[in-house]
Amino acid sequence: MKATIILFFIFLTYFHPVETKVYICGPTGAKKYHYNENCRGLSACTHGTIKTSLTQAQSYGLTLCGWED
Ligand SMILES: [Zn+2]
Repeated sequence: MKATIILFFIFLTYFHPVETKVYICGPTGAKKYHYNENCRGLSACTHGTIKTSLTQAQSYGLTLCGWED
């Protein structure tokens, strides 16, 4: 079972090697995504920072942080 999960993640990594990772202040209420984990826009986040993919963040309707555009 554990090996199956590991193989699954290897599979995902193999087929999505160039997926851009972004950070959001989540899990809910985020309006912006950030390329920089240490961005000043995230420093005020009190909900915990979540790492996700750029395409996922955009599918939530999030836009790029004002400090980073
Ligand atoms: Zn930012």
